[in-house]
Amino acid sequence: VLQWSPPMVSCKKRSPWVQLAGHAGSFQAGDYGKLLKRYCETEERCLQRLMGDLLRPFVPGYYGVVQRNEQDYNVMDDLLADFHSPAVMDCKMGSRTYLEEELLKARERPQLRKDMYEKMMEVDPAAPSPEEHSQQAVLKPRYMQWRETLSSTATLGFRIEGIQKADGTCNKNFKKTKQRDQVMEALRDFVDGDSQILKTYLWWLKELRIALEKSQFFRTHEVVGSSLLFVHDSTGKARVWMIDFGKTATLPPPRTLDHRTPWVEGNREDGYLWGLDNLIDIVAAMLPT
Ligand code: ATP
Ligand code: MG
Ligand code: MG
Repeated sequence: VLQWSPPMVSCKKRSPWVQLAGHAGSFQAGDYGKLLKRYCETEERCLQRLMGDLLRPFVPGYYGVVQRNEQDYNVMDDLLADFHSPAVMDCKMGSRTYLEEELLKARERPQLRKDMYEKMMEVDPAAPSPEEHSQQAVLKPRYMQWRETLSSTATLGFRIEGIQKADGTCNKNFKKTKQRDQVMEALRDFVDGDSQILKTYLWWLKELRIALEKSQFFRTHEVVGSSLLFVHDSTGKARVWMIDFGKTATLPPPRTLDHRTPWVEGNREDGYLWGLDNLIDIVAAMLPT
C-alpha cells in the first residue's frame, strides 16, 4: 500500500518583523508575507492609485482593507518577507514633515504651549527667543518649524528615522543627525562598510528617481512624512521602497509640483526630489572611485 505523504514545502525561517517608526499597535502580521497597517483613508487612496502608476515597483503591493477585532487595516506586502535577517533603515523624505494644512490648523487658534517649550529646552536651551523664555511657552507652528532644523530634514531634505541591523541592534536616535558627514557615518554603519550593498542601493535610488520624475501620481501629490525603506541582508540582496502615505495629499487639479523648488508657504513644495538628489550624492560620495 502506497502511503501518501505531503509534498515537500520549503519552510523558510521567518525573521522577526521590525518596525522603525510609528505607534507599536499600528501593525499586525498578515497571512503569506502580508502586513496589516491601521486603516487610514488617505493611505488607502494613495496605495490604490499607486497600484496603477509607474511607481508600482517601488511601493508595497496593496490588497485592500480587512477588519480584525473591530479595527480596519490596509493590507500590503511585508517588504521584509523575502530577506534573511535583514538590516532595515527608515529614511523620512522631504524638507518638511508636516502638511501646509497642519500649519494652518496650528495657527487657527494660537495657543502658547508649555510642553513644546519644555521639549525645546531639553534639546537646545538656546533655541527659545527671549520672549519665549519669558512666557515659558512657544506657539505650535514655531515649534513645528524649529523641529525640522534639528535633523537633516531642513538642510538635506531627508532624515534617518531608524536603523535596525542584522544582529538585531536598533537605533532610533537620529533626531540630531544633521550634517552630511554624520549621515555618511550612519549609512556606513548601516551597511557595515560593504560597498557592494551601497552600490546596489545607489542603483535602486537612481531607478527610483527616474520613475519619480515620470510619475503622474508623484507630480500631482504633496508627499509629506513618507519614507524610503532600505532593506538588505547578508546574501547581498538590497532594495529600496517608498512607504507611509498617511500624509500624502492630492493637489487640486491642474496643480502639480516639481518636488525640488524650495518651499515657501503656499507653493506646497515638499522637497522630496531635492532630498533624493542629496541622498544619491551622499551615497555616491561614499563609494570608492
Ligand atoms: P509614522 O507616521 O510615525 O512614520 P506610521 O504609523 O505611519 O508611522 P509607517 O511609517 O508606515 O507607520 O511604518 C512604520 C515602520 O513599520 C517603518 O519604519 C518600517 O520599519 C515598518 N514598515 C511599514 N510598512 C512596511 C512594509 N510594507 N513592510 C515592512 N515594514 C514596514
Ligand atoms: Mg513613517
Ligand atoms: Mg505615517
